[in-house]
Amino acid sequence: MSAIKQQVEQWIRAEIRDIAAYHVPAAGELIKLDAMENPYTWPEAMLEEWQRRVGEIPVNRYPDPAATALTVELRRAMGVPDEMGVMLGNGSDEIIQILALALGGPKRVVLAPEPSFVMYRMIAAFSSLEYVGVPLNADFSLDLAAMEQAIQQYDPAVIYLAYPNNPTGNLFAEADIEAIIRAANGLVVVDEAYHAFADRSFMSRLGEFDNLLVMRTVSKLGLAGLRLGLLAGPSEWLNEFDKVRLPYNINVLTQAAATFALQHIDVLNGQTRLIREERRRLFSEMARVDGLTLYPSAANFILFRVPAGRANAIFDGIKERGVLIKNMRASEGPLADCLRVTVGTPAENDAFLAALRAVL
Ligand SMILES: *Cc1c(COP(=O)(O)O)cnc(C)c1O
Repeated sequence: MSAIKQQVEQWIRAEIRDIAAYHVPAAGELIKLDAMENPYTWPEAMLEEWQRRVGEIPVNRYPDPAATALTVELRRAMGVPDEMGVMLGNGSDEIIQILALALGGPKRVVLAPEPSFVMYRMIAAFSSLEYVGVPLNADFSLDLAAMEQAIQQYDPAVIYLAYPNNPTGNLFAEADIEAIIRAANGLVVVDEAYHAFADRSFMSRLGEFDNLLVMRTVSKLGLAGLRLGLLAGPSEWLNEFDKVRLPYNINVLTQAAATFALQHIDVLNGQTRLIREERRRLFSEMARVDGLTLYPSAANFILFRVPAGRANAIFDGIKERGVLIKNMRASEGPLADCLRVTVGTPAENDAFLAALRAVL
């Protein structure tokens, strides 16, 4: 073995060496329906106003560490109750990491249902936290008995519940989530990354339970490139997490751009409405394609199952026709033969539908 490989083996923790790096495929010229992005850009007048403002941003100065102006807009846009605290992250991924840093330690457990958002597991591995995944029921609802049993057994420091869930798209039953919050001794983070596409939220219930936190992001709302997420909940918790947060984690451009965008929230809401309408149309068109099992979605994507053993070929065939979706790459288990498509513009969805019909 070469000297450098030996040094890597000696110093990089085995948990890290064992991880396959998170692979984000390059889209190139393909129609990009793989990453739950909002396909719409800003109207011309809004872009022009933004371009005028960019010139006034003092990039020579450190950002406002408290992101004061942005926090005001976010609180309003997200409906955070006045008495609750807020902490911002460089994407909600960073918030998951901050929680891991603050909560981690020997025998500390992160628990989440599976399948769910892969970052819960990955960030646990990065931070020496133990990760426990509890399988969802076959219809992707929470297996409440199994969750309660796992809570008893592992006493998790934090439980993540994506609401709606990624990659399945469904909303868990509110009563099940409530039962989990009550059963848990540690924190329960309700991850509402897809809130804009669902009509349900735990935001207004903050304060009802001492251990409930709500996480949001602006990524799926149309601002994925800015990297901005938010955690809301009782200040007793958030003040502690805030000590771990790097002081300038939200840069000046993100603060300015997100503040500006949220002052035009009607534009983002309009785009969200279009995506929700297209979700309905895409679902009903896909339902007419033979051989697919569709999972109802309260998010901006649709998970679907193709005939056994054909997922890779169908994914490749759609790609050859110019559309990139997400292959869940499972030949067994709950996501066996599943693909996931993000809802795009009407034209993008039509291109996907044509490709899908052609390959099936
Ligand atoms: C996309 C996604 C996130 C990540 O959001 P960022 O703010 O872009 O880091 C968090 N949770 C779930 C469930 C997601 O699907």
